[in-house]
Amino acid sequence: MVGEKERLASNPDRETGERLEAVRERIAAAANRSGRAPDSVRLVAASKTQPPAALRAAYRMGVCDFGESYVQEAVNKRAALGDLADLRWHLIGHLQRNKVAQALDCFELIHSLDSARLAARLAGLRAGAAPQVLVQVNLGGEAGKSGVAPSELEALLDAVRAVVKVDGLMTIPARAATAQDSRRQFAHLRELRNGLARLTGLELNELSMGMSDDFEVAIEEGATIVRIGRAIFGERMR
Ligand SMILES: *Cc1c(COP(=O)(O)O)cnc(C)c1O
Repeated sequence: MVGEKERLASNPDRETGERLEAVRERIAAAANRSGRAPDSVRLVAASKTQPPAALRAAYRMGVCDFGESYVQEAVNKRAALGDLADLRWHLIGHLQRNKVAQALDCFELIHSLDSARLAARLAGLRAGAAPQVLVQVNLGGEAGKSGVAPSELEALLDAVRAVVKVDGLMTIPARAATAQDSRRQFAHLRELRNGLARLTGLELNELSMGMSDDFEVAIEEGATIVRIGRAIFGERMR
C-alpha cells in the first residue's frame, strides 16, 4: 500500500514530463494561432544548472536539443550523457575565445556569434565544414550586454559569411514590462532578419527568440527556435 507520504513525495521526472507536455501544447497553440505548423518551431531545452539526470528525463520524453550557457558545463554533461547518441547541443551563452576549440567539438549550433574575430577563430580551428552560427543581436544597444547592435549587423555578416554559415539571428530581449514590449522586440528582430536577407542574399532562416516567460509571443512574431528552461525544468538551483 502506498502511504500518504510516498504519494505526496515529489517525482521530478513526472513533474518535468507534465511541464514539458504543457509547454509543447502552448507552442503548438501559438504556432496555430499564427498560421504556422507546430513543427516549424524547434524547442531547445535550456538546461544550464540542471543535472544530467534532468536532461535524461527530458530526453526520454523526446527532447533532443539542449541549450547550455557555459562551454565547460556542456562538455561535462555531454560526457555524462554519452550513451544518448542523438542529442544536439546548442551554445546559448557568450563564447570566450579560449573556449572555441572545445565549443566546436561540442555544439551543433552556436547562437552567440558577436564579432568577426570570433568567426575567424571558429573557422580557423574547424577542420571540416563551416561552423553553423546565429548572430546574437543586442536590440536595445544596451552597454554591457552581449550581441551586435542592429546598425553593425550588415557589416558583420559581410565580414563573416565566407568563413561561417550564418543560419539566422538570436536575441535576448531587454526585460520587458509587458508582453507588448516583448512583442515589439521580437518583431524588430524579424524585420532586421528580413531586411538583411534581402540585402545580403543570405537565407537567415532561423530566429532564436523566446524564453519561459515570452515564448508564445515570440512564436507569434516568427521564432523558429525557442529556448526554454524554467517552464520545463522548474526554477533553477543557482
Ligand atoms: C537561461 C536562458 C534561457 C532560458 O531561460 P528561462 O527563463 O529559464 O526559460 C534562454 N536563453 C538564454 C540565452 C539563457 O541563458
